[in-house]
Amino acid sequence: MSSTNVSAGPEREFLLRTGMINPNVFAGLQPDDCVTWQPVLGGGYVNHSLCNHTCVTEVDGESTGGGYTCESSFIFAKGAKGFAPREAIVGWTKNAAAAQYVARDMFFVDHYDKYVEEFQVPPAWAAAIKSQLTHPDMKVECNRFGGSPEMLRDCPGIISDSKAAGLIVNLTTPGRRFMIDRQFAEDIAADPPQILAMSFDDVHPDEIKRLSGMSLDELKAGWREIPKLHGQRQKAYEALYASQLLREMKVPVKHLFNVVTHKGNIDHLQDILDTLQECVPGCLVNAFPAQSFGTDPLCWTPESLPALRKHILHFITGTLEGKPGINRRISYYNMLEAAFRKWWPDNPTRLCQFMSGVGAWDFTLRPGGYRYVQIARNKDIYNLPQDELSYPGGHIGCFWNPHLSLSRQVGEHIEELADTFVVGMVKRGEEVRRGRREYVQTSSIMPRLALDTLSLELGIPAELVPEYLGTRLEYCGF
Ligand code: SF4
Repeated sequence: MSSTNVSAGPEREFLLRTGMINPNVFAGLQPDDCVTWQPVLGGGYVNHSLCNHTCVTEVDGESTGGGYTCESSFIFAKGAKGFAPREAIVGWTKNAAAAQYVARDMFFVDHYDKYVEEFQVPPAWAAAIKSQLTHPDMKVECNRFGGSPEMLRDCPGIISDSKAAGLIVNLTTPGRRFMIDRQFAEDIAADPPQILAMSFDDVHPDEIKRLSGMSLDELKAGWREIPKLHGQRQKAYEALYASQLLREMKVPVKHLFNVVTHKGNIDHLQDILDTLQECVPGCLVNAFPAQSFGTDPLCWTPESLPALRKHILHFITGTLEGKPGINRRISYYNMLEAAFRKWWPDNPTRLCQFMSGVGAWDFTLRPGGYRYVQIARNKDIYNLPQDELSYPGGHIGCFWNPHLSLSRQVGEHIEELADTFVVGMVKRGEEVRRGRREYVQTSSIMPRLALDTLSLELGIPAELVPEYLGTRLEYCGF
């Protein structure tokens, strides 16, 4: 893919090479396409993000074999049904995309200088960042997302409509439908996304080798044997099936495997990454720490932290050396290394919190942090008969923390929407933190939402900024 033609220079070359700035994308959208209405005990309906998989650790006291619990799991659906139609989903996307262009102008006029000052960005670097991000050829990326967007038969059409609206479109999905609905695969192939992102959790490297040596029929037969309550395992078969099928069909799509890293796989993470790259040549692997939600125990314990740090440093040096297969996000890994420098070994508890997404990166901390906008569910309860409800979803907010999501749906007032992206979500974050119950936090450790070095830095907690500036200076030279 060609990058935009802005003036060359060593700063720009470095920014693009290390993933500090994306060559074609200045902002993002992540719509949850799988929001449904779920009846509430005691009356009314609430948005629920539905998936057709069940990823849990246990059911009725019995272990499923899964390493984590996801609240979108089908087992928690409890009567949830009814997705928004294609037209509504695409309409929300188009309006939010239009607002991203206005938000960019607002940010660079009103907030960029403050960012440059707080993060001590030298003039040549500040100019390079601004000229790249404001170049007219830069686009908005849209990651179609949710529990399993392929549940919507209109998923290929939604992708096509989004591409036709000028967006760079990725699809994050488990891949089951590629296995059970050949026409669906053909429809995706006819107008494919740029990236197909799939998950690879809880799978040992030996298992990856075994599965990737299987034919499509063998993968499907093996998948049928997997217990229905072990979604993590189903996803591994589905991802390899979808990946193999699309390669056989010669579909020009980049294959990306998300690997959630946790204390259970950290010791063989490098093996997982190497094996995936060996078995799916040319694929990208996106490894990131597991996230704790609500009152969940922290994902990380001090014993696993040294192994995690080793990987963080490996990703930084691998990016600088241009090692193939590494998803280049040097600013993100600089932030994680900065957390080690601040809290290790004296404060392992705080470091475990940070790595688990508690008191970590937060898009509500400063204007401009929310540049990967999410169209999501919210937590409002609607006391209406079902036939009087509007479509579910369509709220600016957060997939992982729907307490942050707004009551209103995405509308057609583009200026107002842009203002919400730039400063409205900062106010929303303050509101939520002020009135919070114990389990509500506004931070996360998911790398995609940080997008690039600009929004990554704007979401770093103030207490960590000095150490972050130290890692940036050491690895990036400014
Ligand atoms: S496939 Fe993903 S969204 Fe669906 S239940 Fe599993 S972890 Fe959750």
